[in-house]
Amino acid sequence: MIPLASDTETRPSAAMRAAIAAAEVGDEQRGSDPTVNRLLERCAALLGKEAALFLPSGTMCNLVATKLHTEPGDVLLAEGASHVLRVESGGAGMVSGVMTEPITGSPGVPPGTFTVDDLDATLDRLAHLPFPYAPPARLVCIEQTHNMGGGTVWPWETFAAVTARARERGLAIHMDGARLMNAVVASGVAADRWGALVDTVWIDFTKGLGAPIGAVLAGSEAHIARARRLKHAFGGAMRQAGIAAAACLYALDEHIERLASDHANARRLAAGLARIPGIRRPAREPQTNIVFFEPAPGGPSAAQLVERCARRGLGLGAIGPRIRAVTHLDVSAGDIDQALAIIAEAIADG
Ligand SMILES: *Cc1c(COP(=O)(O)O)cnc(C)c1O
Repeated sequence: MIPLASDTETRPSAAMRAAIAAAEVGDEQRGSDPTVNRLLERCAALLGKEAALFLPSGTMCNLVATKLHTEPGDVLLAEGASHVLRVESGGAGMVSGVMTEPITGSPGVPPGTFTVDDLDATLDRLAHLPFPYAPPARLVCIEQTHNMGGGTVWPWETFAAVTARARERGLAIHMDGARLMNAVVASGVAADRWGALVDTVWIDFTKGLGAPIGAVLAGSEAHIARARRLKHAFGGAMRQAGIAAAACLYALDEHIERLASDHANARRLAAGLARIPGIRRPAREPQTNIVFFEPAPGGPSAAQLVERCARRGLGLGAIGPRIRAVTHLDVSAGDIDQALAIIAEAIADG
């Protein structure tokens, strides 16, 4: 099966497994796992923050960060299709008791991003009535790259302006950086420059970085100290987690620069899709490793086309009317060419 459904499908390579096998371990829960501690130092430096925390998943990073920055009844703002609002089973509401308010990007902005005016419009709408009537906006979450937007990298100028405006208006700023390293490789803007403009930021090791488990949240000493308590309360504290951290350290060394080839494969896929009759895809060139497309009207549904491709050995994901393909280290340029041939056949022959 060509695994294009998600970059979470990466399997640890032999060399990564060797790093795992050789890991020195201790008790992570007590802060005495040396491999985890090395990972945290590396990540804090990478992201330009004072401290960092190892968590089992990216979802728990968003969960902890939302709790960290809000009180029940506060408002969490995020772009309308963002992961924290749409893909986390309501966790932010369940655990933090926040209200959520989607931000809609104005027409023409890169999908998944929004402008200062869009942020202002959302905050002004929330504050139509004065204290104590309106719920207080407290936190904005910025997703980088934006998954449902198609792996969008925030334009630097927009990001700088939006974060400055959010600060002026008294918001805490959290970056869901599940694929931040893809954005770093695509934009050439270093991770610590993105990190400098937000309060908390995390990266996922189980997406394009190709590790089996783990995500790291970074922030100030004070934020991370409180986050450590929340992690414990949520059941996220671990024991010999160096087993997992060793794979993450390996990924930091070996799997960042190579993300550029995933991006090239995504562009190769998008260019090929544009030549297949019956397939529609956005005119935007993919910036990173995610490509959305859809069957043209009159053809099969997205779910039907995904099923036809699966029968032919190609894994894709149907998300509503759209199909998502994600490139990663277990997908080669040859796999892309084969995937294109399968899609062309599946749409023509049923
Ligand atoms: C995958 C993902 C998450 C959640 O990370 P997990 O490690 O799967 O829990 C959060 N945000 C975005 C944008 C993601 O793509």
